[in-house]
Amino acid sequence: MITKVSVQDLHKSYGSNEVLKGLNLEVTDNEVLCMIGPSGSGKSTFLRCLNHLEVPNSGKIVINGHDLSDPQTDINLVRENIGMVFQHFNLFPNLTVAQNITLAPVQLKKQTPAAALQTARDLLDQVGLADKADAMPQSLSGGQQQRVAIARALAMHPQIMLFDEPTSALDPEMVGDVLDVMKQLAADGMTMIVVTHEMGFAKEVADQVVFMADGLIQESGAPQDLFTHPKSPRLQDFLDKVI
Ligand code: ADP
Ligand code: MG
Repeated sequence: MITKVSVQDLHKSYGSNEVLKGLNLEVTDNEVLCMIGPSGSGKSTFLRCLNHLEVPNSGKIVINGHDLSDPQTDINLVRENIGMVFQHFNLFPNLTVAQNITLAPVQLKKQTPAAALQTARDLLDQVGLADKADAMPQSLSGGQQQRVAIARALAMHPQIMLFDEPTSALDPEMVGDVLDVMKQLAADGMTMIVVTHEMGFAKEVADQVVFMADGLIQESGAPQDLFTHPKSPRLQDFLDKVI
């Protein structure tokens, strides 16, 4: 098994607010890790540390064998191999769907526009939006926009995908289509870290679930163990509220 993400004793503070208090985890190739936990527990901060949008105060993060704290590491290159999908899709509103997807591959990977467009069409087909290449983002539903955002991330052929509550901003009837795309991605072997409140998804798809609270991983394990036999009262209480 190849380790794709390794995190050791990760600390992150904003001023005097210590948000991450010593996180440790490992994600291996093809693994899906779901992170659950109450709002404000540091989940988004953790994801942002993984692609160096936030710089940790201490601890070690190794992605695909690259130590992010090593000054020799080319952070931009590491980032190109990490796809990120946010709660609020963050599509460029003034670009078409296809242009949103081809922008980074053309600019960063130096693909030809024609090759990037073909990739974009294939990805749109994969996420069920083959007919939307020329649409503007605002003309799409939230669920469709989020699937475009996933296609955009995949266009860089990332080795790891990070999802930060990808369905939390969606109307309930849109959630299933987005989760289906993510399930297919997992089935195809993508290594994924998914912060989510969708416990059904976590139960079905996750290899490993971690419960974050107060800046620490309080409990982790296979979904069948964690959801059916939560050890800490904290997790029990959280599950009672969300399920
Ligand atoms: P979660 O995603 O689990 O809801 P976050 O990582 O967003 O939690 O936030 C954890 C804590 O860090 C919160 O107290 C939040 O106010 C604080 N925080 C997050 N980002 C920043 C920032 N850029 N500056 C200062 N405080 C922040
Ligand atoms: Mg968050």
